[in-house]
Amino acid sequence: MSVMERIEVLKERFEGKILENADLRNYSFMHTGGHAKYLFEPYSIADLELISEQFGEVKCIGNGSNVLFRGDIDKIVVISRTFNDSVSIEGDTIRSSAGVSLPVLAKKAYENSLTGFEELVGIPGTVGGAIRMNAGAFGKTVFDVLTEFSIFETNSGRTVKMSPSDVNFQYRNGGLQEGQIVVSGTFKLNRGEKGAILNKMFNFSANRRMKQPMKGYSLGSIFKNPKKYPAGWLIEECGFKGTKVGGAYVSEKHANFIINDGSATSEDVLQLIDMIRTQVFKRFNIELELEIVVL
Ligand SMILES: Cc1cc2nc3c(=O)[nH]c(=O)nc-3n(C[C@H](O)[C@H](O)[C@H](O)COP(=O)(O)OP(=O)(O)OC[C@H]3O[C@@H](n4cnc5c(N)ncnc54)[C@H](O)[C@@H]3O)c2cc1C
Repeated sequence: MSVMERIEVLKERFEGKILENADLRNYSFMHTGGHAKYLFEPYSIADLELISEQFGEVKCIGNGSNVLFRGDIDKIVVISRTFNDSVSIEGDTIRSSAGVSLPVLAKKAYENSLTGFEELVGIPGTVGGAIRMNAGAFGKTVFDVLTEFSIFETNSGRTVKMSPSDVNFQYRNGGLQEGQIVVSGTFKLNRGEKGAILNKMFNFSANRRMKQPMKGYSLGSIFKNPKKYPAGWLIEECGFKGTKVGGAYVSEKHANFIINDGSATSEDVLQLIDMIRTQVFKRFNIELELEIVVL
């Protein structure tokens, strides 16, 4: 069957959206990239099953807050807010579908007097993306509070429950395999006092605003922090603050942030990344590892 015919079969039962020739700039916080021949926004696991029946393994993203698209992509699934956007709370446990964003989850936790998620309030990703990345801030990571999650396996078409001990999660890496799409996550928090929770969220957000650039398109930290020194410090020491390639430049406020002034291409960003890596290695003999995902 041709791709067109497969799409037609899919359309018969697919509940979500199918976009053709989608502009990937709208799906990355860097606002660069080419086009997706087919972009699927599934509403449910049944939709994921249909995609996997027709196409097997596909690329998958969440909010695109950590993804740089190199160019065009054939087929991509977006597990975004359209994906079964539900949050349920039982005692001190929160269960959320993968498309819910961390700020929304942090707010729900606060509303229900649950503490433990405050540090993560400013991370603009989805639960799925945060589990895949083991996102974290201010010494707290998603895996510190995650007790269980479910994945959809694109190769087998099955949905499987997993516990954090089933994966080799590390710093900014949830240890998932290719073809594993997170569909939900369960987090264990603690009872807390609402005023104190709000105060903590406010302070973490203020701290972020003080240290990180808030204007322009960016993906947050470009590189992981090496063991000995923060990546931002190494980059700053190499004199990169303000360095520009095309429309991409290194933030004056935080050197581990690359900003798109609105006219950058992914090639500009990648070129800047390359320059930084080369120079940091030359000066410090340290190989900077990407935190962002290049697709
Ligand atoms: C301003 C700014 C500040 C940030 N601050 C932080 C921070 O403090 N700490 C931090 O850790 N990160 C931070 N980030 C990066 C980013 O928000 C996190 O990595 C976030 O967890 C990515 O989630 P996402 O849904 O946007 O994933 P995406 O960017 O869409 O995808 C990231 C990766 O996850 C995979 N993925 C996405 N959804 C799923 C899914 N459902 N199942 C399986 N794989 C999936 C993608 O294939 C890709 O490999 C920041 C980004 C920005 C723009």
